[in-house]
Amino acid sequence: MSAALAASVGGASVLILEKSEKVGGTSAMSGGGTWIPVNHHARATGLSDSPEEVLSYLRAASAPGWAEKEEPLWRAFVEHAPRMLEFVEAHTPLRFALVQEPDPQAEQPGGKTLGRMLSPRPLSRRLLGPLARKLRRSTLPHRFTYQEMTGEDPYGHPVRAAFRLWPKLLSRILTDSAGQGNALMIGMIKGVLDRGCKLELEARVTDLVLDPASGRVEGVEVERKGKRERLTARRGVVLATGGFEWDAELYKKNFPGPMDMIGSPPTNTGDGQKMAAKIGAAIERMDQANIYPLLPTTYEGNPHGMPATFQAHPHAIVVDRSGRRFVSEFDYNIGEAIDRRDPATGGPLHLPCWVIADARMLKAPRMFWWYARQKQGWVRQAPTLAALAAMIDLPADALKAAVERFNGFVRKGRDEDFHRGESVWERYKTHAHDATGNPALGTIEQSPFIAIPLNRSTVGTKGGARTNEKGQVLRPDGSIIPGLYCAGNAMANPIGTRAVGAGTTIGPCLTWGYICGNNLLRENR
Ligand SMILES: Cc1cc2nc3c(=O)[nH]c(=O)nc-3n(C[C@H](O)[C@H](O)[C@H](O)COP(=O)(O)OP(=O)(O)OC[C@H]3O[C@@H](n4cnc5c(N)ncnc54)[C@H](O)[C@@H]3O)c2cc1C
Repeated sequence: MSAALAASVGGASVLILEKSEKVGGTSAMSGGGTWIPVNHHARATGLSDSPEEVLSYLRAASAPGWAEKEEPLWRAFVEHAPRMLEFVEAHTPLRFALVQEPDPQAEQPGGKTLGRMLSPRPLSRRLLGPLARKLRRSTLPHRFTYQEMTGEDPYGHPVRAAFRLWPKLLSRILTDSAGQGNALMIGMIKGVLDRGCKLELEARVTDLVLDPASGRVEGVEVERKGKRERLTARRGVVLATGGFEWDAELYKKNFPGPMDMIGSPPTNTGDGQKMAAKIGAAIERMDQANIYPLLPTTYEGNPHGMPATFQAHPHAIVVDRSGRRFVSEFDYNIGEAIDRRDPATGGPLHLPCWVIADARMLKAPRMFWWYARQKQGWVRQAPTLAALAAMIDLPADALKAAVERFNGFVRKGRDEDFHRGESVWERYKTHAHDATGNPALGTIEQSPFIAIPLNRSTVGTKGGARTNEKGQVLRPDGSIIPGLYCAGNAMANPIGTRAVGAGTTIGPCLTWGYICGNNLLRENR
């Protein structure tokens, strides 16, 4: 949508082809958390930021080796993201507001405690007219904004959140307004339709059409209600088809080992990655994904996952197959730790992983248990740790030692292994400023003991066509495939599994679309 908006504002005639009968994709389902550094909303409140600080942060906070390859794309993202935000607000009804969240690695050079996270203000679905019925809905409660979800915690404290927010919620119900990803996509869709872009649903792109003489992408093959047709694209084609997590074979090949749940729409079957590969594009970063704990739920009648940090309970730890802890349970990038690979084999180092908790998790927010009950046998209980270890096939001595070691840290008030609850992010998330001691720490000693699987769950893969800093798709030798651009989860993302901000898919996705839309106007006249 951001590619379409940029191209149409620049004068191109744009056709958006969407294979599903619903519009909005994963973006519409999302929390809408948007990481945009050096943005005008932060500047307006007096917060300082600079491209140099962002680049320092990206270098320090990203996985080792990424800066060497991704720095040109980071530079493009840092240059264009603030402009994209202003552009989107100028050409759509979408308005963003600052979110209180810090950078997840705020202690790193260039990290910020405030100012880079934004989210859309609520918008009414009525803006879309009859198309509102086709807007993809979420598993998340979209009557709330992202800030309300993270600040008021309606899952942990539903009554308190409803009591505090009821006038806003009532007004949103009366006006059919939504926050988060629905607001994002209401605004983006309204923006592109107002610019005259044509949007077709149930129009699946099946192939890219290549001119054999020039090697240029000249259009697409599209399947509409069983009929195939070839469409010509005068300026170019932007692939923005999302991830490949719902293609079981592709997913298993790139993410070996146990997988729990998927939280994105089932339309993410890697069509863009496959089409790009077929015409000789370099396909990279296929082992990267947005990996996040998910609670079991149902979506469109099928088992699904919904993002929730249920493992971050004071009386719970996360252990791997050896029965030992390997990460702070409150770390935003716990997904990266769960997915850590053996450099020699590419196989998972820690999986299967488990949340181990004591009886106090039974008093976890009622909402947790409402979701937990959706998957029979998901939560296991045993009277002793030894019995629990036997039940889930973990070495009992190692598990007992891990729990005792952790309990020792709790009594001392300090997690000497993983510093749980100490980082800026973890202090923010545990409301440590309002508490005495370290509220992230609680002993595990009361029977019954609990185990919940915590393997890879994903809300979207992040590998695909390798692009340059203009969004142009490249061949393995680095040459450009003329006429073809790629953005979002369909591209080889310069920010991988290790997120540098809570909104480091939506923010970059919007920005890469904007970059593609603008460059397509310049390069292909
Ligand atoms: C519940 C949830 C919460 C999330 N919260 C956040 C958050 O707060 N912040 C954040 O940064 N990220 C978040 N994410 C991740 C984020 O939503 C995604 O990474 C992002 O939306 C991907 O955008 P995209 O444009 O690449 O793909 P999508 O938004 O998925 O769009 C791709 C579209 O392409 C269509 N398509 C696929 N194949 C074809 C084809 N062959 N022909 C035509 N159309 C096709 C699909 O149907 C889909 O509509 C969340 C994800 C989920 C599931």
